[in-house]
Amino acid sequence: MPAMKTDMLGSHLSVAGGYVNALREAERLGMQTVQIFTKNQRQWKASPMDPAAMNDWLTELHRLKWTQTVSHASYLINLATPADEHFAKSIDSMTDEVERAEALEVRYVVVHPGSSLDSSEEAGIDRLVKALDEITKRTRGFNAIICLETTVGGGNQIGGRFEHLGAIRQRLAQPERVGTCFDTCHVTAAGYDMSTAKAVKAVFEQYDAIVGLDHLLCFHLNDSKFGVGSHRDRHEHIGLGEVGLPCFEHIMRSRKFARTPKILETEKAETDDGTPWDTINLRQLRALAEKRKTAAGPRSKAATPKAGQPTGRKKAGSQTRKPSQPRRSRKTT
Ligand SMILES: [Zn+2]
Ligand SMILES: [Zn+2]
Repeated sequence: MPAMKTDMLGSHLSVAGGYVNALREAERLGMQTVQIFTKNQRQWKASPMDPAAMNDWLTELHRLKWTQTVSHASYLINLATPADEHFAKSIDSMTDEVERAEALEVRYVVVHPGSSLDSSEEAGIDRLVKALDEITKRTRGFNAIICLETTVGGGNQIGGRFEHLGAIRQRLAQPERVGTCFDTCHVTAAGYDMSTAKAVKAVFEQYDAIVGLDHLLCFHLNDSKFGVGSHRDRHEHIGLGEVGLPCFEHIMRSRKFARTPKILETEKAETDDGTPWDTINLRQLRALAEKRKTAAGPRSKAATPKAGQPTGRKKAGSQTRKPSQPRRSRKTT
C-alpha cells in the first residue's frame, strides 16, 4: 500500500480492557488518531488511572508517534450552570479530565460548553469564562488543550451559535489553552446550512470571523439524522444524513485542516458482511479528499461517490438497510 497521506482521521473508540485497546483498534482501522473517554463519562466519581494501563497506552502512543489524540469529557459537566454546587463539581471534574489527558499525553480535551439553564445566555458565558480560567490556572503549563464543542443549540445550550464560542475565547486569561471542536452534525442542527460548496464556504468564513479558524483544533465528523435548525442531536453515517457531502469535502480538502484531528462519532456497528461502519465512513471521507486530485484526469470509481451514498456501500452488501442492531452503548454526542 502506498504511504498514506496525512489526513488525521480517527474515531471515538472503546477503552474497554485498557486504554491501549483504542489505539490498537484505531491503527487496525487505518486511522491516524483516536478519541477516548479517560473515565466513565456518566459518573462523577472516578478512580485514579491504573499505572499499568497508562504505561501500555503511552508505549503504544510513542510507537505510533501520535501527538494529536483527543479525549471527550464527561457529559455531567456543566461549566455554564448557575447552580453553585454543580458549577464547583464541574470545575473539579474538568480539571481531572485535563490532568488525565496530560498524563496520557492526549492533546485535546473536548467538552460541551453546557447550558445556562434558567439563567441568561450572558450569565452562562460569564460562568464558562470563570470556569475555564480556574481550570487553566490549576493546570498551568500543561500541553493539553481544552476544546469547546459546537452544539445543536437547543434550549439554553451554549455553543449553538459561533458568537458564543467567540465571546468566551475573547475573554479568557489563558486563551492559548482553549480551542474549539467543530461538530458537523451539531453545526447543521444548530442552523448552519453546509449542503452546498458555496454555503459551506460561507459558514467557515463566518467561523473564521467570529471564532477564528486558528482556534479550530478538532473536528467531529458526523452526519446528522435531522435537518438544518432542527436542534436535534442524532449522528448519522457520512453521506446518509442532512449535512451534505460538500461540507465533508471542504474539510477533507482544506490544507488548513490537514493535521487537525477528524473524529467519527457515528455508530460502530458492522454491515451485514461484517465491514465496520468506521471503515465505510473512512473510505467515503478519503474518496472526497481525493476528488480534486483526480478532477483533471479520469476519475476512478472510488473517487466519485454518488451524493448521499458512501463509497463501498454496495460492496458492504446491504442495499438500503442500515445496520439492524446498531450498538448504542458507546454513543458519543
Ligand atoms: Zn452529537
Ligand atoms: Zn461531538
